[in-house]
Amino acid sequence: MREKIDSLMGRARTDLGELVAIPSVADPRQYPPEECLRAANWVVDRFAEAGFTGLGLHETSDGSRAVFGVRPAADPDAPTVLLYAHYDVQPPLDEAAWHTPPFELTESGGRWYGRGAADCKGNIVMHLTALRALGDDIGVNLKLIVEGSEEQGTGGLEDFVVRNPELLRADAILVCDTGNAAVGVPAATVTLRGLANVVVSVEALAGELHSGMFGGPAPDALAALVHILATLRDADGNTTVTGLDNGQTWSGAPYPAEQFRSDAGLVEGASLLGDGTVSDMVWARPAVTVLGIDCPPVVGSAAAIQSHARARLNLRVPPGTDAVKAQDALVAHLQAAAPWGVRVTVEREALGQPFEARSGGPAYRALAAAMREAYGREMAYLGQGGSIPLCNVFAETYPEAEIVLMGVEEPLALIHAPNESVDPGEIARLAHAEALFLSGYRK
Ligand SMILES: [Zn+2]
Repeated sequence: MREKIDSLMGRARTDLGELVAIPSVADPRQYPPEECLRAANWVVDRFAEAGFTGLGLHETSDGSRAVFGVRPAADPDAPTVLLYAHYDVQPPLDEAAWHTPPFELTESGGRWYGRGAADCKGNIVMHLTALRALGDDIGVNLKLIVEGSEEQGTGGLEDFVVRNPELLRADAILVCDTGNAAVGVPAATVTLRGLANVVVSVEALAGELHSGMFGGPAPDALAALVHILATLRDADGNTTVTGLDNGQTWSGAPYPAEQFRSDAGLVEGASLLGDGTVSDMVWARPAVTVLGIDCPPVVGSAAAIQSHARARLNLRVPPGTDAVKAQDALVAHLQAAAPWGVRVTVEREALGQPFEARSGGPAYRALAAAMREAYGREMAYLGQGGSIPLCNVFAETYPEAEIVLMGVEEPLALIHAPNESVDPGEIARLAHAEALFLSGYRK
């Protein structure tokens, strides 16, 4: 199998080059929608070659098109595996920051650079390489869903799943849009944090006042907001929202502190926050981030006391905590923390529940065995600090399904940033593991 995969990597390079050359950013204000259509049709053509039938484009509620197809097994009792990826990409952002043209797959230092090379076109090519290696020898029923607006967060596929539950029903779902902990270290991501956003507004005065004439006794809305926000962290940097547990621990693979420092790009002398390990802090515990503050910018600011100020906050909600309760706790905390009798209002924004995969079943066992053989080491169980709402929809719609998050997007891939790249060795090893999984998985 390994040799077969190796012999297919030239084709994988060609495929990924073709796909990366299509700027399939699903935002018509930035790129023509025809580019997404081209990418969708490219996916249809390649999976048709890989034996899929019934392939077609399904329009979703946000106007994007999802590619769906099937590849039935000879044995109707064989388990069904749904393969997921997305063909849309992030925009290149700052094009001047790219060392290579973003939409031209370019090899450098053993990696392949280009927008979407990892997220998520590298995973599409991984699926294709695994399927080509297996040829006709596939013992499971396969379904394919490749969505076209994942990066926009507009929820087209989430809605499509709810409306078409039978179409996508499967025993195991490979959500291939994450990555290993590091190159060469196989992993499945088994938890995701949820989120709860709010906007907190402070009102203290009828209007702005001269800081010389009134500064001192006059309640300052911006100072009050700073005071409120400061109560959300303790001296060690732990998130401290009253009523919200912040002492959880992570039981899967550790996230080495040195690796995190380098992945996150800490300036020299800066310390990591919190009294837990890195994996506790980023996967198992809540974290609050101030996303924005409305107040006068430095340039143009005058000697005035602010009458109003507001901030937008993002709370990451760990697995095991209900996101609604976490948002309630945050709202109550902000109101209780208001100093000097100023008026505080809190507006609720986006809410997403955390996700926890059922990881003890036959699909996970088959995947662990496949990863062991392909990588020569044990598969690690990781968390992810961010949310993938689709995983919650899959879990709610198919409570019996085993959902696996995996893929070629390891930390060096710099997904969503300039100079995104993929390690072709990861495509090869994961395609190998995927092929072994599809051969070894039985209900
Ligand atoms: Zn992605």
